[in-house]
Amino acid sequence: MSELERTAAVLAAPRGAVSIVTDRVAEPGPGEALVRMEACGICHSDLFVAGLEKLKLVPLTLGHEGIGRVEAIGSGVTNLAVGDRVGITFLAASCGECELCLAGLERYCARQLNFGYTVHGALATRAVVRTELLAKIPESLNAAEAAPMCCAGWTAYGAVRETGLVAGQLLAIFGMGGLGHLAQQYSAVRGVRVAAVDVSVEKLRMANAAGAEVCVPAADAGRDIQKRCGGADAAIVLTPAPAAIEQAFRSVKRTGKVLLVGIANTRFELPVIDTVLKGIHVQGSFLGTRQDLDDALRLAAEGKVKAHVETHPLDRTPELLQRLHRGEVTGRAVIVF
Ligand code: ZN
Ligand code: ZN
Repeated sequence: MSELERTAAVLAAPRGAVSIVTDRVAEPGPGEALVRMEACGICHSDLFVAGLEKLKLVPLTLGHEGIGRVEAIGSGVTNLAVGDRVGITFLAASCGECELCLAGLERYCARQLNFGYTVHGALATRAVVRTELLAKIPESLNAAEAAPMCCAGWTAYGAVRETGLVAGQLLAIFGMGGLGHLAQQYSAVRGVRVAAVDVSVEKLRMANAAGAEVCVPAADAGRDIQKRCGGADAAIVLTPAPAAIEQAFRSVKRTGKVLLVGIANTRFELPVIDTVLKGIHVQGSFLGTRQDLDDALRLAAEGKVKAHVETHPLDRTPELLQRLHRGEVTGRAVIVF
């Protein structure tokens, strides 16, 4: 096995360049598997990681939205076998013993490891990964369409579920890109109506074509949604722009919920009086439960939710990260190996 090569998208240093590197693949150690990757999506969190001032592990193989097949397993691996099809998500491992892990909230564990961030990720022809939290991927699902489920789909599904909205209620979705177009479909599965918000006319046009009840530009979205729909029952904010968070806050009804999903090193300000007197809930939402991930994969396998993907070869990764940074990717950019 030691003669096997792999090609990977590697971040050289914190805030450094991402380049395509070919090197020798490591042997899977205890609790690890060697996975021959089929596809890996490119996520805004890859940009976030690449832009951090400090990183624990560099050079770092990026990627946390990967689909592949197990080629070899290390010692002590009992939860999967050679030939299994697996999904690599942002969550590589958690401590398994803190109160959050025991409550099924391992995504909030303080001692978690993250693929493509604190451990090497999946943007590579072959990846050596810890196995305990790998997802099982239905054979019927095309790899390029399955890949976005491991982060964008999981996160969007988790957020829509956490709003607690039921059929007939209105959800405002801020940011109609990779996560947003999936959140819209998960809402539709639940019969939840959608108000789509974005700065991009093109993304709003697509949301409209996909059945959004109202599509409004971001600038004055709060007022527009109040005026046209009497306010949303909840809002999810998939972009980290403070202005979007403020508009989402303004868009919800009294006692409404605002879920923050997009991340960046920014801060936001909200009016205290309105938060208190209108009983507005502001809450973070990160990934989802294991059940959410299985549900997202099942809905994709059943054809009820379809990720809008554009596929590219691995060597396009640096350029795709730039396009993502400029907001030029309308669905999900997926690397196919
Ligand atoms: Zn991600
Ligand atoms: Zn834990």
